[in-house]
Amino acid sequence: MAEIKIENVTKRFGNFVAVNDVSLTIEDQEFVVLLGPSGCGKTTLLRAIAGLGMADQGRITLGGKDVTYLPPRERKISMVFQSYAIFPHMNVYDNIAFGLKMNKVDKTETERRVKQAAELLHIEAMLDRFPSKMSGGQRQRVAVARAIAMGSQVLLMDEPLSNLDALLRLEMRAELKRLLREIKATTIYVTHDQIEALSMGDRIAVMKDGVIHQCDHPSIVYDQPANEFVGGFIGNPPMNFMQGQVQRENGQTRVSIGGFYLTPAAPLQPFLQPYDGKPIFLGIRAENMETLNHPAEDALPVQVLVVEPLGAQNLLTIEIGTDIVKVATHPTFQVAPEDQVWLRFPADKIRWVDRDSGRVLYP
Ligand code: ATP
Repeated sequence: MAEIKIENVTKRFGNFVAVNDVSLTIEDQEFVVLLGPSGCGKTTLLRAIAGLGMADQGRITLGGKDVTYLPPRERKISMVFQSYAIFPHMNVYDNIAFGLKMNKVDKTETERRVKQAAELLHIEAMLDRFPSKMSGGQRQRVAVARAIAMGSQVLLMDEPLSNLDALLRLEMRAELKRLLREIKATTIYVTHDQIEALSMGDRIAVMKDGVIHQCDHPSIVYDQPANEFVGGFIGNPPMNFMQGQVQRENGQTRVSIGGFYLTPAAPLQPFLQPYDGKPIFLGIRAENMETLNHPAEDALPVQVLVVEPLGAQNLLTIEIGTDIVKVATHPTFQVAPEDQVWLRFPADKIRWVDRDSGRVLYP
């Protein structure tokens, strides 16, 4: 069992709190992606798990063993960091085989594992080459191959694909995911690339300012973000947040957006009552609005500002009140800038958000 348990871990640099009371359990063989903007504390947390920068507070266990204050070599983990430290005086083969030799793995098994890892990373033709004769992306792949060849139960990876070109990155994403499943390692993978996170992770932990705001399956993080930050960080385009005004009339709560009234479903009414007379945010993804080219009673008339054909869909930019909203339509939907269209907001796709805290109220 290689479960990783992080309990109330805090890491400071002077007065600055880089990781703030983080708790997270990564199940045996699970692949968790740590995702967040630059400087949010992802690497600092990973380094605490690796033992490269001890936590100031809290506890970290690997497979049930408390490793909080153990040096890295006693933690039985493999790491790939952004600064892919590979040995310049060793060729690619020896670099990949390094950890295996240190662990006295026999020659045949070493050869097998080096070859398998090198093939995965498409560097099998470079085994004799020295790092000085390789590109940054190739060196990064050597570092990933070395970590994988080790066969550790716990793999920590910090932006391991960051130096690869877009096409190779796309290919490696799927291959790495398949391989990690095959070698059954418990993996924490740091990235600020949300597509990588959505496509690779069993779960995604979304971080900001040293705090994990949500940790869940990619589809849940995408469809049901816990707050405005998560909805706005995940997805391209990010989730739209429009301002609505809550009004109570004849015992019913209504929400006006751009002069159009939505009557929220009964289960939502109690959540909205305290907001009577106040603004609220409605979060909705671009692809979840329905666009009509004719008026309808339950649809808001809007004017199209920009049309961006993106192949699989067209992205419309629309102004609702003071909010700029992105709406995805089928590429066959005929529309041009300045046209009027009508928008429907399916009730089950709306996230109701407290404007001040950014917290999702419902559902
Ligand atoms: P990136 O995606 O840019 O790598 P990150 O989320 O991994 O960012 P960290 O490297 O963990 O972020 O840094 C978190 C915060 O801690 C940053 O504000 C950074 O400036 C600060 N920090 C990191 N290491 C140190 C250090 N050794 N001394 C002081 N501050 C540090």
